[in-house]
Amino acid sequence: MMIAQEDEQALLDTIDRWVEKDVRPVVKKFDHADEWPEELVAQMADFGLFGATVSPAYGGLGLPAETYAKIVMKISAVWMSITGIFNSHLMLCLAIEKFGTEEQKQHWLPKLASGELRGGLALTEPDAGTDLQALRVTAKRTNTGYIINGTKTWISNGIHGSVFALLVKTDTDIEPRHKGMSLMIADKREGFTVGRKLEKLGYQSIDSAELVFDNYELPANQLIGETEGQGFYQATGGLELGRINVASRGVGIAEGALRLAVDYAKLRKTFGKPIAEHQAIQLKLADMATRAQAARLLTLDAARKFDSGQRVDMEAGMAKYFASEAALENSIESMRVHGASGYSKEYDIERLYRDAPLTCIGEGTNEMQRIIIARQLVKRSEA
Ligand SMILES: Cc1cc2nc3c(=O)[nH]c(=O)nc-3n(C[C@H](O)[C@H](O)[C@H](O)COP(=O)(O)OP(=O)(O)OC[C@H]3O[C@@H](n4cnc5c(N)ncnc54)[C@H](O)[C@@H]3O)c2cc1C
Repeated sequence: MMIAQEDEQALLDTIDRWVEKDVRPVVKKFDHADEWPEELVAQMADFGLFGATVSPAYGGLGLPAETYAKIVMKISAVWMSITGIFNSHLMLCLAIEKFGTEEQKQHWLPKLASGELRGGLALTEPDAGTDLQALRVTAKRTNTGYIINGTKTWISNGIHGSVFALLVKTDTDIEPRHKGMSLMIADKREGFTVGRKLEKLGYQSIDSAELVFDNYELPANQLIGETEGQGFYQATGGLELGRINVASRGVGIAEGALRLAVDYAKLRKTFGKPIAEHQAIQLKLADMATRAQAARLLTLDAARKFDSGQRVDMEAGMAKYFASEAALENSIESMRVHGASGYSKEYDIERLYRDAPLTCIGEGTNEMQRIIIARQLVKRSEA
């Protein structure tokens, strides 16, 4: 997927203007109330963000990963939560576009790309997070399709979304376990309910929920690709883009926290001068700026390689690992620069501080990223 440089710039300028005019003024109100931002979601749909990485043939913008990453960085510098509303949704779109039948693509993607239908990815279960192959949601074959039973948890957009890529076991006995896993397009109807909304430290306003499947019937043509046993591969096949996306959120937070620290350090005076002129604060600002820039470059490098069709599990893993740790470190350092104000709900930095840790967990924890990086390093050294 390609975009002309001037078109990319025009799009990024539009996002910038929107963030300043419509997002920044309301973020505290929505975040503190943990309220779903309906109007902002409608505006994101108008921009085409729900189809950002979907091919134009199916109604999307067809953006390259690099442009998509830059959009996520800009929004996350102010409010990471709202990127989750379209990021998880795009993972669902990717699974359908990459692995679905032509009929499935024609049926689902245009409505998803326009935002008429919104959803996400339902992989995690109470006893299956990192160890996805331990999942217990089962799909039993019937004459016409499947009957699904079990519970998913931590599903982003679980309440406001209506369709999910649902990872299930179609064979509970087969070894290796991943051969018994399949990915379904699960739309909300009888048998598919929301168990409960999960309360969180940060990442407010986007709904994280338990999803319950109780004799939920699904026609056979909602099995992605219409071949059983491909689910693990299909669900993890989108993770490279997913990690670039989480890395971009990390870059956004790292840069946003830096910006807040610089602004505050120029205003706040102690001992007769702005704290930005005290060396202890300057060291912090320099470290934060260097981390943010390194995170940005790693993320754009992974995105560009992804766009060129290369395998990027190592690069995306490095970007996700580094950028999320940079987000965490910059948010606490910025909070220190803010002194007591950093601990106040009247300032923005406390939100970035609460949002940052999620980037170390989502799309594979940072412990797992390091394992993936090391494995690839060894493998590539043998090639
Ligand atoms: C706000 C939020 C939103 C989410 N959204 C979604 C969503 O939309 N869809 C979805 O499917 N899931 C979602 N998740 C779930 C998320 O993907 C999982 O939490 C994540 O994969 C980790 O799984 P776990 O929580 O079960 O941790 P566990 O797997 O129990 O891991 C616990 C700890 O052990 C470490 N660990 C585990 N195995 C190993 C190993 N082999 N080697 C070394 N260390 C290991 C982990 O790194 C971690 O530190 C979300 C989670 C949160 C918090």
